[in-house]
Amino acid sequence: MDRMTAATSSPTPAPAKRVLLAAPRGYCAGVDRAVIAVEKALEQYGAPVYVRHEIVHNKYVVKTLEKKGAIFVDETVEVPEGNIVIFSAHGVAPTVHEEARRGKLATIDATCPLVTKVHKEAVRFAKEDYDILLIGHEGHEEVIGTSGEAPDHIQLVDGPGDVENVEVRDPDKVVWLSQTTLSVDETMETVGALKERFPNLLSPPSDDICYATQNRQTAVKQMGAEADLVIVVGSKNSSNSVRLVEVALGAGARDAHLVDYAEEIDEAWLEGVTTVGVTSGASVPEILVEGVLEWLAARGFGDVEVIRAAEESITFSLPKELRRDLRTEAAELAAGPADGDASQG
Ligand code: SF4
Repeated sequence: MDRMTAATSSPTPAPAKRVLLAAPRGYCAGVDRAVIAVEKALEQYGAPVYVRHEIVHNKYVVKTLEKKGAIFVDETVEVPEGNIVIFSAHGVAPTVHEEARRGKLATIDATCPLVTKVHKEAVRFAKEDYDILLIGHEGHEEVIGTSGEAPDHIQLVDGPGDVENVEVRDPDKVVWLSQTTLSVDETMETVGALKERFPNLLSPPSDDICYATQNRQTAVKQMGAEADLVIVVGSKNSSNSVRLVEVALGAGARDAHLVDYAEEIDEAWLEGVTTVGVTSGASVPEILVEGVLEWLAARGFGDVEVIRAAEESITFSLPKELRRDLRTEAAELAAGPADGDASQG
């Protein structure tokens, strides 16, 4: 009787709806630098500026830069002779630099310094005649660029299932490297399987999976355990964004989806949901996350709690070619108008 009375007089309140917002999320230092490099190049040299492949894997960023005068091409040979071409944050093989030289193109290399670090490791181990096992996703631009540094020494290992296919010349002279944007846990699983086959497998001198990828995955793990639904803002071709969906599900989230924009969220995903986790990939501007938070707030999810896994303060200076030209211009401005300019006044 008591239970019935309680039920009619004070119904159990519905659980409060809330959002757990992962931090860090969104732009990493390498993406920030690459996007600013295109913007500065447009200001410095005027449109059009050609960019080989998407400068970073995000639809919104690419569209915004296109509106400002950037032209994205698939191959360097598509750039008309004498123009400027920017290489994307994912890095390129040496043959691409060679193509640009042949096409008499000026280049700005916006490869993330953390990808360049992996390229240098590949070159060094190839010089020492190691077999290099590059853990990464087949066809990803970063993997193509890194493999191009030492094609005769590198073979791709695309996850633990690929380990049995690996063949090396000398099992005592093997090293593994990796793509920068992989799942940390899956990569360690692959390394474990490789070590079973090659007990003397050498590890890279420092982590190849970059700080930004690791931090975003750690934050998602923390919030995924509590979330019914996780929304990851990012594009489908963004490796680190796709990994965040997998990590969220692995951490215990009931459901997780990748969306480019708030408009892609399906209302049905909210059925029976009280806690929504929100994060974004390393190539995603914050304005897109704000759009998702507004969309959720309009549906009763206005209470936002930040789950912070790490502080980030890393920044990278602009590509050297651009810095050189910006410095030259600044020096000319500081020197004052040339004689010809002065006479016009
Ligand atoms: S995700 Fe990591 S490697 Fe890729 S651009 Fe960002 S900082 Fe560089």
